[in-house]
Amino acid sequence: MDTTEFRLRGKEMVDYMCEYMDTLAARRVTPHVEPGYLRPLLPAEAPQDAETWDNIMADVESKIMPGAASPACTELETIVLDWLGKAIGLPNEFLAFSEGSKGGGVIQTSASECVLVTMLAARAQAIKRLKQQHPFVEEGILLSKLMAYCSKEAHSCVEKAAMICFVKLRILEPDDKCALRGATLRQAMEEDEAMGLIPFFVSTTLGTTSCCSFDNLQEIGPVCAKFPAVWLHVDAAYAGNAFICPELKPLLNGIHWADSFNTNLNKWMLVNFDCSTMWVRDRIRLTSALVVDPLYLQHGYSNSTIDYRHWGVPLSRRFRSLKIWFVMRSYGIKGLQAYVRHHCQLAKQFEQLVRQDNRFENDDTGASKVPVRFRHLDTMVRLNTRRESSNYSRSSASPSLSPEGQDNSCLSAKSADSSRKSADSNREIGSRSPRRSPTPQS
Ligand code: PLP
Repeated sequence: MDTTEFRLRGKEMVDYMCEYMDTLAARRVTPHVEPGYLRPLLPAEAPQDAETWDNIMADVESKIMPGAASPACTELETIVLDWLGKAIGLPNEFLAFSEGSKGGGVIQTSASECVLVTMLAARAQAIKRLKQQHPFVEEGILLSKLMAYCSKEAHSCVEKAAMICFVKLRILEPDDKCALRGATLRQAMEEDEAMGLIPFFVSTTLGTTSCCSFDNLQEIGPVCAKFPAVWLHVDAAYAGNAFICPELKPLLNGIHWADSFNTNLNKWMLVNFDCSTMWVRDRIRLTSALVVDPLYLQHGYSNSTIDYRHWGVPLSRRFRSLKIWFVMRSYGIKGLQAYVRHHCQLAKQFEQLVRQDNRFENDDTGASKVPVRFRHLDTMVRLNTRRESSNYSRSSASPSLSPEGQDNSCLSAKSADSSRKSADSNREIGSRSPRRSPTPQS
């Protein structure tokens, strides 16, 4: 849409809203549709080709408005997240309307919230399981045994989630391609388990913030599967959008091992902020951590419909699926693929320009180039921001880091030390039983 059409459509939209206000008295207070009304009215997949604005608006009037805010708001969210999940190549288990699936997608406010919510769910699952095994041990003690994992390249939101969840986080060293490897994770989990700690959550990243590296899901998945009920999350906050292109889908290999996945459409799919999409393999495992059901929120459809208030922190929800629906239809899958491909080409072109430019020089590894003028600055920044010596972070026993840049390594070391000291008391609780092995995606 160019600016000429944007002006026109924007003015039409104001007219549409005013017309709605002027005819309010003649409209129904409650919709006349039943939950589940929308799915038969919409295609099961996003269109391949772009559609006209007039077509989409006609559907707003005939399909969305009769369902008003409810149930249309919920139903369109489930439908478009299935569209998108299919388009980026998530396994069928993550799609709400796939035969036999227990999963589905939801829109959250941010990737940080997606990581937090999945960690909360994993924590609830782990505590529930431990309480069954150790009914007389206090929950606080069980909580102090839980250990989450991520790579040094993971986004800081994993650390923040661990801080909020009051669990320990072990931050692992990636390989020379900045990817977390299965062997590193296995060794850490085994060491912790030997100390009586309980691995319960692993957050991997596909497309890390600083260098777009990819953790090795194909190695990490089987490692997680060897530990009872470890929740494997995949944070693909920006790179996840690129999986809409078939040639980039191999970067998603190993996703069949994951319990949850998130990507931000507001980062790279032309949807304005905020729009973080998240999918889970088993929605009951997610919602069981978050259900609170007072009388004034109960309704007669709780067994037959999705109730997104149980999928995250907020109760009230915006109609964010509308903007995904508009974008996916206005561009079509082909248009969105072209957009991502164009950016990848621009990145390659930029790489060429940097390589040819003698104002840049190779960094210490020879793998990338940095500006000569900024070389020392760059090194300083990296030294200050990377968690160079941190291994363990965040513990229920250790205080939080100050945003002003308190020394991470000191707290991390303390946390590691306190973890080791409590190892003896931990050993009794960390017993094992086998975990599910997922069906590989065909
Ligand atoms: N994860 C990754 C890989 C990111 O790149 C970012 C942001 O840049 C985040 C998480 C946090 O995203 P948000 O601002 O939506 O919380």
